[in-house]
Amino acid sequence: TPPAPTLALDHRYARDLPELALPWQAADVPEPRLLVLDEALAVDLGLDPAWLRTPEGTGLLTGTRLPDDATPVAQAYAGHQFGGYSPRLGDGRALLLGELVDRDGGARDLHLKGSGRTPFSRGGDGLAAVGPMLREHVVSHAMHALGIPTTRSLAVVATGRPVQRESVLPGAVLARVASSHLRVGTFQYARATEDTDLLRRLADHAISRHHPAAAEADQPYVALFEAVLGAQASLVASWMLVGFVHGVMNTDNTTISGETIDYGPCAFLDAFDPAAVYSSIDAGGRYSYGNQPLVAEWNLARFAESLLPLLAEEQDDAVEVATAALGGFRTAYSAAWSRGMRAKLGLPDGLEEAVASPLVTDLVSLLQAGHPDHTGFFRSLAAAARGDVEPARSQLLDLAGFDAWSERWLAVGPDPDAMDRVNPAYVPRNHLVEEALDAATAGDLGPVEQLLDVLERPYDVRPGLERYAEPAPDSFGAYTTYCGT
Ligand code: AMP
Ligand code: MG
Ligand code: MG
Repeated sequence: TPPAPTLALDHRYARDLPELALPWQAADVPEPRLLVLDEALAVDLGLDPAWLRTPEGTGLLTGTRLPDDATPVAQAYAGHQFGGYSPRLGDGRALLLGELVDRDGGARDLHLKGSGRTPFSRGGDGLAAVGPMLREHVVSHAMHALGIPTTRSLAVVATGRPVQRESVLPGAVLARVASSHLRVGTFQYARATEDTDLLRRLADHAISRHHPAAAEADQPYVALFEAVLGAQASLVASWMLVGFVHGVMNTDNTTISGETIDYGPCAFLDAFDPAAVYSSIDAGGRYSYGNQPLVAEWNLARFAESLLPLLAEEQDDAVEVATAALGGFRTAYSAAWSRGMRAKLGLPDGLEEAVASPLVTDLVSLLQAGHPDHTGFFRSLAAAARGDVEPARSQLLDLAGFDAWSERWLAVGPDPDAMDRVNPAYVPRNHLVEEALDAATAGDLGPVEQLLDVLERPYDVRPGLERYAEPAPDSFGAYTTYCGT
C-alpha cells in the first residue's frame, strides 16, 4: 500500500477566528466506499490519489481518521435566505478539516459536507445523500473545466448509512476544496456580534487570503469591498454567459473569494428565458436566471452594511463611500458581460462599441423572442460564421429578424474558431445529470464517470458524443431542482 503522506493540515481559520470556529468531530461512517475521486485535484493538493483510495485515505475524506493534531471545526455564519435574515446558520452538516497548501502555494480549505450533526444543525439530520453529492461533484467539475471560479469536489464517499428524505436514500460525504469558505454571511454573523475587533480580524483574514492588494490600499476595507464586488461581478457575468442558474443565491452562499459555492438546486438553461427558475422553493422567481446580477448586487449591499464599522474608521462618510462603491457593481458587471458576449459572438478585437453593442443587444432580443436552446444556439453560431446559417436560424422564430441581424454580424468578420473556444458544446444538461445520478443511486457509476469525462473538455467536440450536445427530449418535461437534499 502507498505510504501515508505527512499531511500538512493548517488551522489558520480556527486560529485567527476562534469565535467563528466550533471544534467538532465527523460522525462515524459504517461502510465507507469511495465513489468518485478527482485525481488531478488530489495531485494539485499534494495528496497521492492511490493513498486516498486506501482505508486511511477514505478516513481523511470522511473526517473519521485524521492526524492527531487535526482540529476540525464547524464554521459559524448568518445569512439572508430569500431575503429573510437568519442570525445563526453555520455548518449544520459540514466541517472544515483545515487548510492545505496547493502546488501553487495557495491555501485551500479541505471541507466535508454530510459529515453529521453539529451545534448548527437546528432540525436537520446533518447528512447528505449520494445523488446530491454526486451532483455537486459533476456540476462543479464542469464549472471548473468551463473556466468559471468554483469550489471543487475532491471526492464523494458513500457512507453505508441510510438517509431519510422523501424516501430512504444512500448516504454520502463530499470532500470539498475551496480557496476559503468565507461568505457574506460570515461577515453578517461577525457584524451582529458587535465585536469590531472580531470583524476586523475577519476582514484582515479575508484580505490576506483573497485580496492581498487591498492591504496596500489607503483604505484597506473599502478596497476589500471593491475587490469582492469585482470578483462577484465577474463571477455572475460568467454564469450568465454560460446559462447557469445558481438557484439559491442567499448571502450565505455568496463567497468572498468569488468562487461559485453550494450546488444545491442549480441548473443549466435549456430554452433561453430570463424568467427561468428550476428550484422547487423559488416560487417568486427571486433567483431566476435573469435576476442573478440584481441579486448579487443586493447581496453585496448586505456585505457593505456588515463592513460599515470598519469603513467608518477609515472615513467620516462611510455610508456615502459604501454606496458609491456599490454603484460600481453595474459598471463592473456590464463590462464583464459585454466582454464575454463579444467573445461569444466572435467579434474582432477593437471593433468599435457603436457596432458591437447593438449586435449584442439585438441578438439578446432575438433570443428572448425565440427561446432557443442556450448552449446549442451559441455553438451553432460558429457554423453560421463558417457559412452554414441554417442550424442557428432554424432555432429562432423571427427569421427575418435573424437574417437582418446575421447580415450585419457576418459583415464584421466573426472568428468561428475563437467562438468554439468560448461557447461550450457540452454542459451538464439537466436530463443528463439526472440520468447519471439515478444510475449511481441504483449502484451503476458508469454514466457519472462517462459524463465527467465528457465535461472535462467542454469545448472539444468529439464523435460519438452527439447525445451530450442535444437538448432534453420533450418527454423529460419541465425540470425541478431541490435544496438541502
Ligand atoms: P444551504 O441551503 O445548503 O445553503 O444550507 C442552509 C443552511 O442549512 C446551512 O446552515 C446548512 O448547514 C443547513 N443544512 C442544510 N441541510 C442540512 C441538514 N441535512 N442537516 C443540518 N443542517 C442542514
Ligand atoms: Mg449553503
Ligand atoms: Mg446547499
